[in-house]
Amino acid sequence: MSYDPSNIFAKILKGELPCHKVYEDDTALVMMDIFPQSRGHTLIIAKSASRNLIDADPAALSAVMPLVQRVAQAVKAATGADGIRLAQFNEAPAGQTVFHLHFHIIPAYEGTALAPHGGGKADDGELAALAKDIAAKF
Ligand code: AMP
Repeated sequence: MSYDPSNIFAKILKGELPCHKVYEDDTALVMMDIFPQSRGHTLIIAKSASRNLIDADPAALSAVMPLVQRVAQAVKAATGADGIRLAQFNEAPAGQTVFHLHFHIIPAYEGTALAPHGGGKADDGELAALAKDIAAKF
């Protein structure tokens, strides 16, 4: 399947739709997931146009991975999470719902189960505060 440039993350990258932005550079936009699996669930949206890992340009992947690590560190520091899950889904049967390359940084808290993938929407005020707290740890 080919990349569809009208996907929701492409629109956010173009500024056509809002997001709770944490950070942005030449390689990616970092923002809060509005249907978080845990407090502080953050997404790294690659700026290169690909559906997912399978069709990604290896050069674009190697450019974005250091940022994925940096986000994991910042999210852990800002939330006090006990662990961090890195997730990335490729095509619908694997759980992918937005077909533009992105990575999930999902904080894990001792004794608390993660909410299901694609659950309820978080409060906008809480997401804005988290975005600010995570940005401050960059
Ligand atoms: P995936 O299932 O890996 O394609 O992940 C897509 C993620 O994007 C899901 O975790 C959704 O909760 C999240 N999501 C969908 N729409 C938005 C949006 N407008 N802003 C932020 N996150 C979103």
